[in-house]
Amino acid sequence: MVELKTDTSIDAMHAAGQVVGRALTAVREAAGIGVSLLELDEVAREVLREAGATSPFLGYRPSFAPTPFPAVICASVNDAIVHGIPSGYRLRDGDLVSIDCGAELDGWAGDSAISFTVGRPRTADVRLIETAERALAAGIAAAVVGNRTGDIAHAVGRVCREAGYGIPQGFGGHGIGRRMHEDPEVPNEGRPGRGFPLRHGMALAIEPMLIGSGRDGYHEAPDGWTLRTNDGSRAAHVEHSVAITEAGPRVLTARNSKN
Ligand code: MG
Ligand code: MG
Repeated sequence: MVELKTDTSIDAMHAAGQVVGRALTAVREAAGIGVSLLELDEVAREVLREAGATSPFLGYRPSFAPTPFPAVICASVNDAIVHGIPSGYRLRDGDLVSIDCGAELDGWAGDSAISFTVGRPRTADVRLIETAERALAAGIAAAVVGNRTGDIAHAVGRVCREAGYGIPQGFGGHGIGRRMHEDPEVPNEGRPGRGFPLRHGMALAIEPMLIGSGRDGYHEAPDGWTLRTNDGSRAAHVEHSVAITEAGPRVLTARNSKN
């Protein structure tokens, strides 16, 4: 079932989304060579605590997961695509990092992700991240009343494929509201004009995942959570929570800083 939110509820979702945006900005500022993923998780925890928000990630256990998720961010480095568990791993020069974070505030959820490099970036990683951001922007631009979820999927997938990147099948965006994961699904590739009709008051998380080699293959790591590329190539993941309104898409997790 897809719940249509009132304008007041969308404002409340925006407040939750702003907490996520602040957490991601703080994590990005804290990230650097030698900083551990657990330290980045602690940075995000502090932002959530200060805001009086809770984490929809912490303790989350979807059907595929062998253990409850132990952190408030997913930290996916290099060949990890999504769902990386923060560990004692210390970031190295040239790493590509994707951070996914959620927050719940006053009963509403926000969900957003960023990808960035640490130290001296590889040219290929810069292009990969830039393309992920363009795919996200294209998906958001398609999130308008009268379109369908397939139009968003098509917009995202086209940017990724035209740039020559792979797309992991079976993972993508979703409805969001009182819970982080709601209907409908928002795939990262699809046919225009298909899928769920977009109406004023819907909220969706749009989240392109790109594989640098151009191949789609991925596997689950032994921890039961982390998804890694099969060929060891690097991946990027970016995400915003977006409300569909008569006035156009409203990005609920927008950040003040660049990226
Ligand atoms: Mg997310
Ligand atoms: Mg999401």
